[in-house]
Amino acid sequence: MKVYELSAVAIREKVAAGEIKAREIVDYLLARIDEFDSEICAFVSVEYESARTRADEIDARVAAGDTVGRLLGVPIALKDNLCVRDGLTTCASKMLEDFRPPYSASVVEKLLAEGAIIIGKTNLDEFAMGSSTENSALKQTKNPWNKKCVPGGSSGGSAAAVAAGFAPLALGSDTGGSIRQPASYCGVVGMKPTYGAVSRYGLVAFGSSLDQIGPFARTVEDAALLLDVISGSDDRDSTSAKKKLPLTLDYNSDLTGLKVGLPSEYFNTDGLSEEVKDAVIAATEKLKDAGAEIKEVHLPMVKYAVGTYYIIATAEASSNLSRFDGVHYGHRCDKATDIIDLFSRSREEGFGDEVKRRIMLGNYVLSAGYYDAYYLRALKVRQRIAEDFDKAFSEVDVIASPAAPTTAFKIGEKTSDPLAMYLSDIYTISANLAGIPGVCVPCAQDSNGLPVGLQLLADNFKDDLLFKTSYVINNAENGVAF
Ligand code: GLN
Repeated sequence: MKVYELSAVAIREKVAAGEIKAREIVDYLLARIDEFDSEICAFVSVEYESARTRADEIDARVAAGDTVGRLLGVPIALKDNLCVRDGLTTCASKMLEDFRPPYSASVVEKLLAEGAIIIGKTNLDEFAMGSSTENSALKQTKNPWNKKCVPGGSSGGSAAAVAAGFAPLALGSDTGGSIRQPASYCGVVGMKPTYGAVSRYGLVAFGSSLDQIGPFARTVEDAALLLDVISGSDDRDSTSAKKKLPLTLDYNSDLTGLKVGLPSEYFNTDGLSEEVKDAVIAATEKLKDAGAEIKEVHLPMVKYAVGTYYIIATAEASSNLSRFDGVHYGHRCDKATDIIDLFSRSREEGFGDEVKRRIMLGNYVLSAGYYDAYYLRALKVRQRIAEDFDKAFSEVDVIASPAAPTTAFKIGEKTSDPLAMYLSDIYTISANLAGIPGVCVPCAQDSNGLPVGLQLLADNFKDDLLFKTSYVINNAENGVAF
């Protein structure tokens, strides 16, 4: 097996056993990034020096007999909206082009404490707003399976980095599907944990009641291990759950007694490709073969999810992004004539079109006169969507659906039609509104050789059930794309 195909679990074992040096792994992956990332553009910045220095430190520790660390010597890529102290954290925006945070995200501290090596920061849609990584102000990430196609988004760079074999692990953030949808397009495992399971401290906020950080990996075990490392309560995030996720990290192919629900609403949607539908149904057959019982369930309110999401997420974004005014944070226009001009021109120059569109929408739905009609109503619908899931989870343990209505689309295909773009998250958004965990696991390839993803959803804090179930679909290493 080539170094770039090794799982995180395998790397950790080999490094701890002294079979391979962390430095060799890092050098190998950096060489692969050098060779191919000029085409894929998964990374916004690559940590050549610090990754090598840290690998040497780890090798020295191992040589001295210290093999502590569940991710010892394992390289990881981070979405560039996660703060790493003194490291560039751009959010793929001109607004933060040279921002170096004075602190690290809690998840970053946890990774470092377990011996992981940060290999670079990955591209995203600006401030995580998008579904294709085409809204990045910095570069266009390509899908490693077909460079004419998007990698999905907004965590497109992280998904592409794992699919291209640049790193065995990556972190992304998921506000409405930004981990699961790119995982689906890039043929890797991507998981959004239960809201509150992972601290958001040090994640640049988009929609604070929806945002969660989660893992990308090429195996289910690696994704589960990474989630185990980053989850847990944190006083620095008031929405962080007090209890730690119970993860067994030990999966097998027996699903006896498990009830899996197929929501009729998710299989009769306009725009669902026949190929994706067939592949997802075939995957649920595998669950049945492993002993699961398959049942139909109903989620009558999810048809309102996309509309509800675009009210709540934009409302929260308009508030969260108000700090980027050239004074508190972010790009500052140097030609301003007075303070109002400074705010408005700094924001005009720093933000891209989609971010501006969201801020305007958010301000609109929050403004006096529209607040009740839009924002308040959206909160009520959100509650009803959560109740749909509560009811479904009183009947089944896990819900299965497509992760996205199609496989990866062509670069440029949807850029002129924001609504068409928003609809690519139709299956993922409800989980964020309800706060429940969701995973996307590769289950097939379409006739063009592009990956198809199966989404599995479970009730709050049942994250482990998602790994247990997806292990049956995907219990081997997913090959890298090339
Ligand atoms: N695509 C969705 C959006 O543009 C979700 C983004 C995300 O999860 N960060 O809002």
